Amino acid sequence: MAQGNGEYDLVVIGAGPGGYVAAIRAAQLGLKVACVEKRASLGGTCLNVGCIPSKALLQSSEKFAEVSHGLERHGISAGKPKLDVAAMQANKDKIVSENTGGVAFLFRKNKVTAITGAARIAGIGKVEVNSGKPQTLAAKNILIATGSEPVPLPNVPVDEKRIVSSTGALCLDAVPKRLVVVGGGYIGLELGSVWRRLGSEVTVVEFLDRIVPAMDREIGQQLHRTLEKQGLKFRLATKVVGAEANKSGVTLRIAGAANGKTETLDCDVVLVAIGRRPHSDGLGLMEAGVAVDNAGRIAIDSDFRTSVEGIYAIGDVVAGPQLAHKASDEGIAVAEILAGQAGHVNYDAIPAVVYTAPEVACVGKTEEELKEAGVLYKVGKFPFTANPRARILGATEGMVKILADAKTDRILGCHIIGAEAGNMIHEAVVAMEFGASAEDLARICHAHPTLNEAVHEAAMAAGARAIHI
Ligand code: FAD
Repeated sequence: MAQGNGEYDLVVIGAGPGGYVAAIRAAQLGLKVACVEKRASLGGTCLNVGCIPSKALLQSSEKFAEVSHGLERHGISAGKPKLDVAAMQANKDKIVSENTGGVAFLFRKNKVTAITGAARIAGIGKVEVNSGKPQTLAAKNILIATGSEPVPLPNVPVDEKRIVSSTGALCLDAVPKRLVVVGGGYIGLELGSVWRRLGSEVTVVEFLDRIVPAMDREIGQQLHRTLEKQGLKFRLATKVVGAEANKSGVTLRIAGAANGKTETLDCDVVLVAIGRRPHSDGLGLMEAGVAVDNAGRIAIDSDFRTSVEGIYAIGDVVAGPQLAHKASDEGIAVAEILAGQAGHVNYDAIPAVVYTAPEVACVGKTEEELKEAGVLYKVGKFPFTANPRARILGATEGMVKILADAKTDRILGCHIIGAEAGNMIHEAVVAMEFGASAEDLARICHAHPTLNEAVHEAAMAAGARAIHI
């Protein structure tokens, strides 16, 4: 990457999906922009060690599972498939470098100056970059987009070999015989699914009494049952209190969350995936007077302004869902605000997807959230067993669930568990963005035979007039 100098309208710290998108959009709007990234390649967590490599491995492992036991009903027998983990990892690495290289290309195209090094705020309008040869950039505005990092688990030290974070779990060079995943959130379940499909015995240890706690409970319970059917084992209401790694594996000490009863669990690899925390160490926030909240996230107002004039923050380092598309939308919004436009993010319509098989996707409120808020709502559900395309695909597990306001019929939430849920959810996102009612969705003609007909039927079910159930 080039070395930048001089006066910038905007210096962005961090080249993840928040920072790099903000840098490009600001440059498109005529600002002189530099983006400082301490990693050797651009794209942040998402492109390097997050969304992209995890989905590459999910795709490969899904193919392996399909060839292993998904083709017989089509009359196809491919024999026992052989697995080449090195080739699978090389494919993932190639996808990652094509994507990170794509960001470098976009920076050149949009004349964003990319600077490699760790940045620190050295006062109003000053960013110090430590890259062997220290330099100070003068900036009219600074945007902090430094993302997040895995939360460590006390007494379970990550060595990225036997005890790994998500980064290590993406790089294993062999299928572990026994894998324990600590944490039943989406990262643990996705990576657990990858190695389960490739043959690992996977046990998920979760402190709470349910997996994916933020998800609509009914959908989360169905995901739990489905993953169990795929052979993942779950130890709920259980905490991990320590781990000893030795040459042949790891002995985990676990305890009942309620009764404290301890036992041990032996495995070959442990994945610690208990969440991510804002990454703001070494940025000089305290010295600069930038306020953080109780969770260590940088505090911002609705225009992404921190407590210090000229310093803004977006993405995983601030509050809100830790998702790449949320970070990118904030990046676009803050760039437009800096260019004098009216940037805006609608936090009520941000989709979230879990890329297990089947996928889970949601937008808006869960049923539990509506109950807690005392909102009167109605529910429309449609199972994929009654959808012809799902039968053709052999993917009849799951359902679409639409929650609408009981009085106005406005769609308040949509939750899908099923094949292609991550693509399908966007129909509900668009509907919610435009303030649609369930009836609006029910009156839209849907192509046949498609999975989206289940969304259509769920919308009709919200008005008690589903046809195919
Ligand atoms: P990041 O992507 O974390 O980027 C921040 C960048 O700032 C990093 O590259 C870091 O090196 C750099 N940086 C930090 N400090 C400094 C400094 N002082 N100086 C210079 N540079 C600095 N989200 C989804 O939406 N979909 C998914 O499918 C998905 N899958 C995921 C799978 C895994 C395994 C993981 C770990 C995460 C996943 N995420 C997913 C979350 C997603 O990666 C994050 O929400 C997203 O990357 C946040 O973007 P960001 O720009 O805020 O920060």
